[in-house]
Amino acid sequence: MKLPSEFTFIQRGWLNCNSILIQGDGSPALIDSGHLRYVDETLDLIRKAGVEPETIRQIGVTHCHCDHHGANKTIKALSGATIGMGPLTAEWFGRNERYLTWFEQLTQEADVVPADEIYNEGDIVTFSGIPFEILSLPGHAPDSIGFYQPDSRVLIGADAMWENDLGVLHTAVHGPAILDDAEMAVRKIMALDPAVVIPGHGNLITDVQENGQKILKRIDSFRNEPGRAAWHITRRFIMYGILTLQPISREKYISIAITDGWARQYLPDINQTLDEPIAESNLADLFNLVIDEFIGRGLVVEKEGSLTCLVAK
Ligand SMILES: [Zn+2]
Repeated sequence: MKLPSEFTFIQRGWLNCNSILIQGDGSPALIDSGHLRYVDETLDLIRKAGVEPETIRQIGVTHCHCDHHGANKTIKALSGATIGMGPLTAEWFGRNERYLTWFEQLTQEADVVPADEIYNEGDIVTFSGIPFEILSLPGHAPDSIGFYQPDSRVLIGADAMWENDLGVLHTAVHGPAILDDAEMAVRKIMALDPAVVIPGHGNLITDVQENGQKILKRIDSFRNEPGRAAWHITRRFIMYGILTLQPISREKYISIAITDGWARQYLPDINQTLDEPIAESNLADLFNLVIDEFIGRGLVVEKEGSLTCLVAK
């Protein structure tokens, strides 16, 4: 499946979100702009896609996480682009909310630009002359929105639906009800039945119903087995942390991650799955366990005392 020519899909990895350029009759628009640390790489990729960042007039933000809006400040400075987002993201950015956005956890970095425009569910927003319908897609992030183009049936869905997976459900911050929200968002996407979903990370999704069923099953397993949910979060957060800080020594990474505090919140559920539970005072054991697993699976290498991820940034 090829995307309609108005869309350019810039696929990244796990630290930078995917970005989407929209080019219709108007000036180019951009949905999501990657991580703050990789602004130059993002600008290069936009140029390689045939768009000068100076010509981008609109930037849409799917949600508050720092891997989705890192280049906003730079592009706005270059082009004067207006930046639009959902009402909750706008509120959080407006008051520099650092807990609900996860900015103060997971070694996140953000340089937030406040909203010029607010997109509410059901609004029709025009990007580069093309109309998009705004969808609320909470779960992974309570503020997440999607952009649906009804003529081409393309949905920009961010982290509500990935290929065989979805963005982590950080219940320690947002509460267990986000599992229901995530399910609702997946069902909403399935009911809409887009021809293609452009996810926030990973490959384009064209078998939306089948993929949706797989994710619903996964959410159900998180609900029934909290240990599974805790492992999903723990593995992804550790990978994300190493990706952000690499190359970094194991000791230094673990000391930063423990200070972050998130792992402590998932330890009781993790311990339900272990033959020998890890004491809170030995939290480093959990990190060592996961890092060794990553090394064993070829996802991380430890060379000359430093950890480096082999998965795409
Ligand atoms: Zn996210």
